[in-house]
Amino acid sequence: MVTFFVFCFFSKIMTERLLIKALSGGKNTKIITLNGKKITKMPSALGKLPGLKTLALQNNLIPKVCPELCNLTQLTTLNLGNNLLEEVPEEMKYLVSLKNLHLAGNRICRFAPGACDGLQNLILLNLNNNHLTQLPQEVNRLKSLTHMSINFNQLASIPRELCFLKNLSELQLNYNELKCIPEEIKFLKKLQKLLLARNNIGVLPKELCDLKKLRILDIAGNIIRIFPSGFQDLKLREFYCEGNPLFLQWPEIAKQQENVWSLQEITSRFVINHPAENNPFLMDAMEWYPEIRRIISQRKTCAVCGQYFITTWLECVQFVPPPKAWKISKNLQLVPVRALVCSYKCFTQRDPNLFGIARV
Ligand SMILES: [Zn+2]
Repeated sequence: MVTFFVFCFFSKIMTERLLIKALSGGKNTKIITLNGKKITKMPSALGKLPGLKTLALQNNLIPKVCPELCNLTQLTTLNLGNNLLEEVPEEMKYLVSLKNLHLAGNRICRFAPGACDGLQNLILLNLNNNHLTQLPQEVNRLKSLTHMSINFNQLASIPRELCFLKNLSELQLNYNELKCIPEEIKFLKKLQKLLLARNNIGVLPKELCDLKKLRILDIAGNIIRIFPSGFQDLKLREFYCEGNPLFLQWPEIAKQQENVWSLQEITSRFVINHPAENNPFLMDAMEWYPEIRRIISQRKTCAVCGQYFITTWLECVQFVPPPKAWKISKNLQLVPVRALVCSYKCFTQRDPNLFGIARV
């Protein structure tokens, strides 16, 4: 015990010496590195270095940041990885020049209110190995963010606001507890790398297929059985999907033989399959009843006849060879892709590669 205190005492002196040395450089000091010094309190003298660009304090024992951090308005890189922080501190909002923020390996379970407010220049945010269960809607203020890494947390969902970070090119969410991905994912037009391994995702939204820039997708270790239609058209280079209960064998063919549609389904099919401009009555109806527009926007396309419909008659699976350009998980011979069929008539005329999914 005594040895420990003596050690702490000397390490504190060393830290102060290093800071004094830095301070002697005055306002011109650009970089401070105090990694692995067993620092328990962030030195308040940092506030006297407003010109500081890089501050590295990883592998210490810091439980919270010092208020003087607010003065470091020229800081571009802050590394507080492997400390004892419990939140993304509010003081971050004053770091208006910050580009890289490393907070991995702390005990962070929340963002302080306003923490994201001033981080408009942040490019990289690393929050791996923390205790986050959710992200605040305010993440949408991180307008310049291109790389976000939140592996090994306990996120149960991601806010749709995250999908409005239009510069995001890399999103890492491996080893969380995600059950689904918001359909707004389609707004991440620059996304190239999406890592979702080891979560509890059962269904991928069809909007994922809108990500034209996506090149690397990892969904290994989820509970996915089938991919959305159009999935095979993604221009992936790497695709990892091992450890999912994918449809690998031919499912049973459904025995259902009758079409039983509601009046709404019959009317909707008529409306959406007949060009509205030929029918002034329908044009009027669409103008006066927004409900009709909403129903029409949810239309689906039959995989056999190509006609639109609202209520799926039968969900099918189609087995598609993965595109040659994809580097894929070894066990994947065929990609099971969802296909919807409008009627029994179409089902009997289907391609032999289309199989009905038996409902358990
Ligand atoms: Zn059809």
